[in-house]
Amino acid sequence: MNDRWIDLHTHSTASDGTLTPSELVRYAADKRLRAIALTDHDGVDGLDEAIAEGGRLGIEVIPGVELSADHPAGAMHILGFFVNRQRTNFLDRLRHLQQARNERNPRIVQKLRALGLKITYEEVRAASGGGLVGRPHFAKVLVQKGYVSSMQEAFERYLKKGAPGYVEKFRFGPQETIGMIHEAGGAAVLAHPFTLFKEDSDDLEPLVKELSTAGLDGLEVIYSTYSHEQSRLYRELAEKYELLPSGGSDFHGAHKPGIDLGFGQGQLRVPFEWVEPLRRKARGYGVA
Ligand SMILES: [Zn+2]
Ligand SMILES: [Zn+2]
Repeated sequence: MNDRWIDLHTHSTASDGTLTPSELVRYAADKRLRAIALTDHDGVDGLDEAIAEGGRLGIEVIPGVELSADHPAGAMHILGFFVNRQRTNFLDRLRHLQQARNERNPRIVQKLRALGLKITYEEVRAASGGGLVGRPHFAKVLVQKGYVSSMQEAFERYLKKGAPGYVEKFRFGPQETIGMIHEAGGAAVLAHPFTLFKEDSDDLEPLVKELSTAGLDGLEVIYSTYSHEQSRLYRELAEKYELLPSGGSDFHGAHKPGIDLGFGQGQLRVPFEWVEPLRRKARGYGVA
Protein backbone atom coordinates (compact mmCIF):
# COMPACT_ATOMS: atom_id res chain seq x y z
CA MET A 1 0.00 0.00 0.00
CA ASN A 2 2.72 2.40 0.97
CA ASP A 3 4.95 1.67 -1.92
CA ARG A 4 4.02 4.68 -3.94
CA TRP A 5 5.61 7.01 -1.40
CA ILE A 6 9.16 8.27 -1.28
CA ASP A 7 11.34 10.59 0.81
CA LEU A 8 13.68 13.01 -0.94
CA HIS A 9 15.32 14.56 2.11
CA THR A 10 17.13 12.34 4.64
CA HIS A 11 20.32 12.36 6.72
CA SER A 12 22.55 9.55 7.92
CA THR A 13 25.56 9.29 10.23
CA ALA A 14 27.60 10.55 7.27
CA SER A 15 26.38 13.99 8.43
CA ASP A 16 24.13 14.60 11.42
CA GLY A 17 21.64 11.74 11.36
CA THR A 18 21.68 8.86 13.83
CA LEU A 19 21.15 5.91 11.47
CA THR A 20 24.01 4.60 9.34
CA PRO A 21 23.36 4.75 5.59
CA SER A 22 22.43 1.06 5.46
CA GLU A 23 20.25 1.28 8.58
CA LEU A 24 18.45 4.18 6.96
CA VAL A 25 17.73 2.16 3.82
CA ARG A 26 16.58 -0.83 5.85
CA TYR A 27 14.28 1.46 7.78
CA ALA A 28 12.92 2.78 4.47
CA ALA A 29 12.23 -0.83 3.50
CA ASP A 30 10.34 -1.35 6.78
CA LYS A 31 8.26 1.69 5.90
CA ARG A 32 7.72 0.28 2.41
CA LEU A 33 9.02 3.40 0.74
CA ARG A 34 9.77 3.00 -2.92
CA ALA A 35 12.70 5.42 -3.11
CA ILE A 36 14.69 7.72 -0.86
CA ALA A 37 17.32 10.35 -1.55
CA LEU A 38 20.19 10.45 0.90
CA THR A 39 21.03 14.15 1.26
CA ASP A 40 23.76 14.50 3.87
CA HIS A 41 25.17 17.97 4.57
CA ASP A 42 28.22 18.89 2.50
CA GLY A 43 29.19 15.31 1.77
CA VAL A 44 28.55 12.16 -0.23
CA ASP A 45 30.41 9.65 1.94
CA GLY A 46 27.27 7.68 2.82
CA LEU A 47 26.09 7.17 -0.75
CA ASP A 48 27.96 4.02 -1.76
CA GLU A 49 26.78 2.12 1.30
CA ALA A 50 23.19 3.33 0.96
CA ILE A 51 22.99 2.54 -2.74
CA ALA A 52 24.42 -0.93 -2.20
CA GLU A 53 21.87 -1.65 0.52
CA GLY A 54 19.10 -0.24 -1.69
CA GLY A 55 20.19 -2.65 -4.43
CA ARG A 56 19.86 -5.58 -2.02
CA LEU A 57 16.44 -4.50 -0.79
CA GLY A 58 14.96 -3.27 -4.05
CA ILE A 59 14.68 0.36 -2.96
CA GLU A 60 15.93 3.11 -5.21
CA VAL A 61 18.48 5.28 -3.41
CA ILE A 62 18.95 8.59 -5.19
CA PRO A 63 22.44 10.01 -4.71
CA GLY A 64 21.94 13.42 -3.12
CA VAL A 65 23.55 16.12 -1.04
CA GLU A 66 22.43 19.20 0.94
CA LEU A 67 24.58 22.30 0.62
CA SER A 68 24.43 25.58 2.52
CA ALA A 69 24.71 28.70 0.43
CA ASP A 70 25.17 32.28 1.48
CA HIS A 71 22.77 34.94 0.30
CA PRO A 72 22.31 38.50 1.58
CA ALA A 73 18.88 37.30 2.80
CA GLY A 74 20.56 34.64 4.94
CA ALA A 75 21.88 31.13 4.67
CA MET A 76 19.88 28.79 2.49
CA HIS A 77 19.96 25.06 1.88
CA ILE A 78 20.08 23.67 -1.61
CA LEU A 79 19.56 19.98 -2.31
CA GLY A 80 21.28 18.22 -5.18
CA PHE A 81 19.70 15.07 -6.66
CA PHE A 82 21.37 12.48 -8.87
CA VAL A 83 24.79 13.98 -8.27
CA ASN A 84 27.73 12.05 -9.63
CA ARG A 85 29.82 11.23 -6.60
CA GLN A 86 32.90 10.46 -8.65
CA ARG A 87 33.36 13.93 -10.11
CA THR A 88 36.66 15.18 -8.74
CA ASN A 89 35.75 18.83 -9.13
CA PHE A 90 32.63 18.29 -7.07
CA LEU A 91 34.48 16.28 -4.43
CA ASP A 92 37.15 18.98 -4.16
CA ARG A 93 34.53 21.62 -3.47
CA LEU A 94 32.81 19.43 -0.90
CA ARG A 95 36.12 18.94 0.85
CA HIS A 96 36.61 22.69 0.89
CA LEU A 97 33.24 23.15 2.62
CA GLN A 98 33.94 20.42 5.17
CA GLN A 99 37.34 21.84 5.95
CA ALA A 100 35.90 25.31 6.45
CA ARG A 101 33.45 23.91 8.97
CA ASN A 102 36.06 21.86 10.81
CA GLU A 103 38.26 24.91 11.22
CA ARG A 104 35.51 27.25 12.28
CA ASN A 105 34.41 25.67 15.54
CA PRO A 106 37.84 25.49 17.22
CA ARG A 107 38.29 29.15 16.28
CA ILE A 108 35.06 30.06 18.03
CA VAL A 109 36.37 28.27 21.14
CA GLN A 110 39.60 30.27 20.94
CA LYS A 111 37.75 33.54 20.68
CA LEU A 112 35.46 32.76 23.61
CA ARG A 113 38.40 31.68 25.75
CA ALA A 114 40.20 34.89 24.88
CA LEU A 115 37.17 36.67 26.34
CA GLY A 116 37.68 34.78 29.60
CA LEU A 117 34.95 32.17 29.12
CA LYS A 118 36.25 28.79 30.22
CA ILE A 119 34.83 26.51 27.60
CA THR A 120 36.38 23.59 25.74
CA TYR A 121 35.65 22.08 22.37
CA GLU A 122 34.96 18.72 24.03
CA GLU A 123 32.12 20.29 26.01
CA VAL A 124 30.64 21.79 22.87
CA ARG A 125 30.93 18.51 21.04
CA ALA A 126 29.21 16.72 23.91
CA ALA A 127 26.39 19.28 23.74
CA SER A 128 25.84 18.38 20.07
CA GLY A 129 25.10 14.78 21.01
CA GLY A 130 27.49 13.51 18.38
CA GLY A 131 25.98 15.35 15.43
CA LEU A 132 27.39 18.27 13.49
CA VAL A 133 28.59 20.99 15.82
CA GLY A 134 27.13 24.44 15.36
CA ARG A 135 26.59 27.69 17.23
CA PRO A 136 23.48 26.48 19.12
CA HIS A 137 25.76 23.99 20.90
CA PHE A 138 28.13 26.76 21.95
CA ALA A 139 25.13 28.66 23.25
CA LYS A 140 23.96 25.62 25.20
CA VAL A 141 27.33 25.27 26.95
CA LEU A 142 27.44 28.99 27.78
CA VAL A 143 24.02 28.64 29.41
CA GLN A 144 25.03 25.46 31.29
CA LYS A 145 28.09 27.21 32.66
CA GLY A 146 26.09 30.21 33.77
CA TYR A 147 27.86 32.74 31.55
CA VAL A 148 24.50 33.73 30.10
CA SER A 149 20.94 33.06 31.16
CA SER A 150 19.52 32.00 27.80
CA MET A 151 20.47 30.74 24.36
CA GLN A 152 19.28 34.05 22.99
CA GLU A 153 21.57 35.98 25.27
CA ALA A 154 24.47 33.74 24.21
CA PHE A 155 23.83 34.69 20.60
CA GLU A 156 23.31 38.37 21.36
CA ARG A 157 26.41 38.80 23.47
CA TYR A 158 28.85 36.36 21.91
CA LEU A 159 27.82 34.34 18.89
CA LYS A 160 25.82 36.38 16.41
CA LYS A 161 27.41 38.04 13.43
CA GLY A 162 29.38 41.01 14.66
CA ALA A 163 29.58 39.73 18.26
CA PRO A 164 33.05 39.10 19.77
CA GLY A 165 32.86 35.30 19.50
CA TYR A 166 31.67 35.24 15.90
CA VAL A 167 33.76 33.59 13.23
CA GLU A 168 32.88 34.11 9.59
CA LYS A 169 31.61 30.97 7.93
CA PHE A 170 32.72 30.17 4.45
CA ARG A 171 30.00 29.24 1.98
CA PHE A 172 29.57 29.49 -1.72
CA GLY A 173 26.86 31.79 -3.05
CA PRO A 174 23.60 30.33 -4.41
CA GLN A 175 24.62 30.61 -8.03
CA GLU A 176 27.93 28.89 -7.39
CA THR A 177 26.20 26.20 -5.36
CA ILE A 178 23.64 25.54 -8.07
CA GLY A 179 26.45 25.47 -10.63
CA MET A 180 28.39 23.03 -8.51
CA ILE A 181 25.41 20.65 -8.43
CA HIS A 182 24.85 20.98 -12.18
CA GLU A 183 28.49 20.32 -12.86
CA ALA A 184 28.14 17.09 -10.92
CA GLY A 185 25.20 16.17 -13.13
CA GLY A 186 22.59 16.85 -10.45
CA ALA A 187 19.32 18.77 -10.22
CA ALA A 188 19.31 21.67 -7.73
CA VAL A 189 16.33 22.17 -5.43
CA LEU A 190 15.77 24.87 -2.83
CA ALA A 191 15.04 23.22 0.54
CA HIS A 192 12.64 24.52 3.20
CA PRO A 193 12.61 28.21 2.13
CA PHE A 194 10.77 29.21 5.31
CA THR A 195 14.05 29.09 7.25
CA LEU A 196 15.12 32.15 5.29
CA PHE A 197 12.24 34.33 6.29
CA LYS A 198 10.42 34.94 9.51
CA GLU A 199 7.15 35.17 7.69
CA ASP A 200 5.85 33.98 4.38
CA SER A 201 6.11 37.45 3.08
CA ASP A 202 6.43 38.88 -0.38
CA ASP A 203 10.18 38.63 0.14
CA LEU A 204 10.21 35.05 -0.98
CA GLU A 205 9.02 35.49 -4.53
CA PRO A 206 11.85 37.75 -5.73
CA LEU A 207 14.31 35.28 -4.25
CA VAL A 208 12.74 32.30 -6.00
CA LYS A 209 12.76 34.30 -9.21
CA GLU A 210 16.40 35.17 -8.74
CA LEU A 211 17.35 31.57 -8.02
CA SER A 212 15.41 30.23 -10.97
CA THR A 213 17.27 32.67 -13.19
CA ALA A 214 20.45 31.28 -11.64
CA GLY A 215 19.41 27.81 -12.78
CA LEU A 216 17.45 26.40 -9.85
CA ASP A 217 15.52 23.30 -10.95
CA GLY A 218 13.08 22.65 -8.15
CA LEU A 219 11.47 23.67 -4.89
CA GLU A 220 10.80 21.58 -1.81
CA VAL A 221 7.03 21.95 -1.69
CA ILE A 222 6.39 19.18 0.85
CA TYR A 223 8.26 19.13 4.15
CA SER A 224 7.63 17.74 7.63
CA THR A 225 6.93 21.02 9.36
CA TYR A 226 5.25 23.09 6.64
CA SER A 227 1.86 24.53 7.39
CA HIS A 228 -0.84 24.12 4.73
CA GLU A 229 -0.34 27.77 3.80
CA GLN A 230 3.39 27.34 3.33
CA SER A 231 2.94 24.25 1.22
CA ARG A 232 0.37 26.01 -0.93
CA LEU A 233 2.56 29.09 -1.37
CA TYR A 234 5.56 26.98 -2.40
CA ARG A 235 3.48 24.99 -4.88
CA GLU A 236 2.23 28.20 -6.45
CA LEU A 237 5.73 29.57 -6.73
CA ALA A 238 7.03 26.30 -8.18
CA GLU A 239 4.35 26.39 -10.81
CA LYS A 240 4.86 30.05 -11.64
CA TYR A 241 8.61 29.70 -12.07
CA GLU A 242 8.47 26.23 -13.66
CA LEU A 243 10.33 24.56 -10.85
CA LEU A 244 9.95 20.83 -10.25
CA PRO A 245 8.25 19.81 -7.03
CA SER A 246 10.24 17.92 -4.44
CA GLY A 247 9.45 16.76 -0.94
CA GLY A 248 10.92 15.04 2.05
CA SER A 249 10.90 14.64 5.78
CA ASP A 250 14.44 15.88 6.65
CA PHE A 251 14.69 12.73 8.77
CA HIS A 252 17.63 12.82 11.21
CA GLY A 253 16.76 9.80 13.35
CA ALA A 254 16.93 10.49 17.08
CA HIS A 255 18.36 13.97 16.46
CA LYS A 256 14.94 15.18 15.32
CA PRO A 257 12.41 13.31 17.40
CA GLY A 258 8.90 13.39 16.01
CA ILE A 259 10.05 13.46 12.38
CA ASP A 260 9.71 10.02 10.85
CA LEU A 261 11.22 8.75 7.65
CA GLY A 262 8.80 9.07 4.75
CA PHE A 263 5.93 10.37 6.82
CA GLY A 264 7.28 13.30 8.80
CA GLN A 265 4.90 14.14 11.59
CA GLY A 266 2.42 11.67 10.13
CA GLN A 267 0.81 13.59 7.26
CA LEU A 268 3.73 13.73 4.87
CA ARG A 269 3.21 11.93 1.53
CA VAL A 270 5.62 12.43 -1.35
CA PRO A 271 4.59 10.64 -4.55
CA PHE A 272 6.95 8.43 -6.52
CA GLU A 273 5.91 10.27 -9.71
CA TRP A 274 8.17 13.16 -8.71
CA VAL A 275 11.35 11.12 -9.15
CA GLU A 276 11.30 10.82 -12.92
CA PRO A 277 11.14 14.55 -13.79
CA LEU A 278 14.04 15.20 -11.43
CA ARG A 279 16.01 12.39 -13.01
CA ARG A 280 15.32 13.74 -16.47
CA LYS A 281 16.33 17.23 -15.40
CA ALA A 282 19.58 15.92 -13.93
CA ARG A 283 20.28 13.95 -17.08
CA GLY A 284 20.07 17.21 -18.98
CA TYR A 285 23.19 18.35 -17.14
CA GLY A 286 24.70 15.32 -18.81
CA VAL A 287 27.57 13.80 -17.00
CA ALA A 288 28.68 11.07 -19.32
ZN1 LIG B 1 18.33 21.91 5.60
ZN1 LIG C 1 18.32 18.43 5.76
